[in-house]
Amino acid sequence: AQAFQRFTEANPASRRQFEEQARYMPGANSRSVLFYAPFPLTIAKGEGAALWDADGHRYADFIAEYTAGVYGHSAPEIRDAVIEAMQSGINLTGHNLLEGRLAKTICERFPQIEQLRFTNSGTEANLMALTAALHFTGRRKIVVFSGGYHGGVLGFGAKPLPTTVPFDFLVLPYNDAQAAGEQIEKHGPEIAAILVEPMQGASGCIPGRLDFLQALRDGATKAGALLVFDEVMTSRLAPNGLANKLGIRSDLTTLGKYIGGGMSFGAFGGRADVMAQFDPRTGALSHSGTFNNNVMTMAAGHAGLTKLFTPEAAGRLAERGEAMRARLNALCAKEDVAMQFTGVGSLMNAHFVRGEVRRVDDLAAVDGRLRQLLFFHLLSEGIYASPRGFIVLSLPLTDADIDRFAAAIGRFIGEYRA
Ligand code: PLP
Repeated sequence: AQAFQRFTEANPASRRQFEEQARYMPGANSRSVLFYAPFPLTIAKGEGAALWDADGHRYADFIAEYTAGVYGHSAPEIRDAVIEAMQSGINLTGHNLLEGRLAKTICERFPQIEQLRFTNSGTEANLMALTAALHFTGRRKIVVFSGGYHGGVLGFGAKPLPTTVPFDFLVLPYNDAQAAGEQIEKHGPEIAAILVEPMQGASGCIPGRLDFLQALRDGATKAGALLVFDEVMTSRLAPNGLANKLGIRSDLTTLGKYIGGGMSFGAFGGRADVMAQFDPRTGALSHSGTFNNNVMTMAAGHAGLTKLFTPEAAGRLAERGEAMRARLNALCAKEDVAMQFTGVGSLMNAHFVRGEVRRVDDLAAVDGRLRQLLFFHLLSEGIYASPRGFIVLSLPLTDADIDRFAAAIGRFIGEYRA
């Protein structure tokens, strides 16, 4: 209650903005994830890895548009690419000069993707990948995992989304290789696809265990089903994506977030024989979307992957993340508190439990107010993270920003450990 009161007093402009917007948009937003009580901050401006809210407070940005903002807010390479693209016209109603270039860059970067198609979001990419798998196999069942999040209409979290599309889903526990192996074998002839995040993002940066992911690969191959890796978040976690680092080859991969340079983006791709279904000369499937090849995304994405988030830069950011997470976990261990940071590379999540976090069930007993306290504590220290404890690194964050984050966590533990 105290945190809410301090927050409300400090943010009159954000509050006014929220109340005015709420007249025209339910809950004042189009993105449920951005809401938190008593009202969310309105962000007025961003530069590098800094954000300013409507009341003029400055924050170090440790959420970076839920991973789409890896480039920060003002990379000249992205801005110049978008301006240059726009100078040749925005809505061209045809194949344009930029889309093939981005497709080639992505296929060369992620070797399991032989061919791909663009969408406007990660959600659409997953829906299209599943559609491709259903038609390719002629089957109906789709295996997903507890805690999985694949988009606004594809959620299997602790509270399953009532908006999830009515496909024939079989929901299995995440990170349980034995259960997965048994169930996939049992339902084998009905299974079209196994859809999995190699690290669950929305459920709290829970890394997939190698034996589990390998069991999915083996099960899919045996059943004649397609293994679909949702790498919308995890493609940034190693130079060529997390699946490559783990050495597991999926049949289809979905991408999103930062790969569009910070513009609306999604893509799905993989085996050429599966993707051939979309070839209008020979295949049976059509896939449309007015903005799928929009020039701004096509230009920004290419600039981002070739000039900024190169494979080397991806590797370095992952290393910085590993070092930061180790430092935060050392702090928790030293203070002996029930708090830890899970994740891989540049993505991590604070959790108020001891012991290994293998799936969402391991977090069920946590008092959600602790996450809220942490969130408001970080805001009061000038750090913008996410209400669920998700922490995301971006390229322009400095070592001083990371020091500041670690110091803020130290003070948080000191203040609330009782
Ligand atoms: N898949 C994963 C793993 C995600 O984390 C997200 C978004 O957070 C999506 C899919 C959906 O992407 P989008 O929000 O672009 O629809």
